[in-house]
Amino acid sequence: METLQAPNVSSLDHLLPQEPLLMMGAGPVPIPHKVAYANSIVINHLGETMNKVIEQVKEMGAYVFQTTSRHVLGVAGPGSAAMEMAIVNLVEPGSKVLAVCNGYFSRRMADMAARVGGEVVVMEVASNRAADPEEVEGYLKQGDFRTLTIVQGETSNTVFNRHLEAISRLAHRYGCMVIVDAVCTLSTMPLEMDRWKIDAVITGGQKGLSSIPGVSLLAFSENAWSRIAARRHTLSHWCLDALLADKFWNQKSYHYTAPVSGILALHEALRLVCEETLPRRFERHALCSLALQRGIEAMGLELPVSADVRLNSVVGITVPDGVSGDAVRTHMSRVHRVEISGSFGANIVRIGQMGEQSRAHNLFRTLHALGTSMQFAGAAVDLPSGIAELEKGLTGS
Ligand SMILES: *Cc1c(COP(=O)(O)O)cnc(C)c1O
Repeated sequence: METLQAPNVSSLDHLLPQEPLLMMGAGPVPIPHKVAYANSIVINHLGETMNKVIEQVKEMGAYVFQTTSRHVLGVAGPGSAAMEMAIVNLVEPGSKVLAVCNGYFSRRMADMAARVGGEVVVMEVASNRAADPEEVEGYLKQGDFRTLTIVQGETSNTVFNRHLEAISRLAHRYGCMVIVDAVCTLSTMPLEMDRWKIDAVITGGQKGLSSIPGVSLLAFSENAWSRIAARRHTLSHWCLDALLADKFWNQKSYHYTAPVSGILALHEALRLVCEETLPRRFERHALCSLALQRGIEAMGLELPVSADVRLNSVVGITVPDGVSGDAVRTHMSRVHRVEISGSFGANIVRIGQMGEQSRAHNLFRTLHALGTSMQFAGAAVDLPSGIAELEKGLTGS
């Protein structure tokens, strides 16, 4: 019998660079050694050890979300799977959804809500502005919205929805549940699920938490869980059904084989967050991001979003006229071994400040690489001033 020939492929030793690129884009971000090590282990997905791991992941997750809800769940999949899990479980077919859209990721939630049959009304936020609570109230007044979706930090255009707390409390007053996408922001800046009256928070592994991509975490409020428990229709999504996932996450039994290595990695990432504590982690992220922003501006480059609504977790930088953002990024990658992100349309490049990215040595290397690569691509930048300003920002002078 003739079989197909085995393909002749390269081993990873040939494909991967000698020294990994420094990942300073919009995610995935560098992972600590403890996380990488945990990710190399496989254990039984059920049993005593896994039960203990899951209990601790839920406990640490509740801390990071700032909730006392017992409905912290993980999902095998990207941040978008957590997003979809929140949406398919909370948006009933035919129910009204207010989708506050700032950009690419908040629009993804609107799309998902429409796909499950939600009657979606989009509130389009002007570019480079934060969603305005009064405008949101105008929509809520028009009637019977059951669910509101909003992003805390819009990674695509680097806008920060600074009025998230006010908007969430407002929606709560109107009896409307709130789903928050905190994929890039969680553990980098304050978010208080219970106090802010949020009903579902979603995150991914590979951004603020500095874990691996592919295993994500979300939490439902007790209120949200009542809606889920009371539903009459059968979800068409089997893997994402929160009532089935609850079997694994709360009842120590089988739903699907959990991504054990990724959960162990997430455990370690969360443990490092707990060890650092949230207040200190927020402080580190703010200090690093603001110092980086100061350095970029001192080099003579512009930030497209005004300071009051600028996202600290992912910093957008305007590419000067006549300069190619792709040329800058390619040079950074090839020559300096530093990777940053391009954009979704606007002529910007983006530098992440999430988890391990917010370390002084990574900032100096990245800013230096950005400056010389901008010069290489034809931009006039003052590199020494930028580096000096970064140093001042980091030392608080
Ligand atoms: C990255 C990101 C997502 C999507 O996460 P994936 O893991 O790529 O699915 C969603 N929302 C925001 C705000 C993000 O930054």
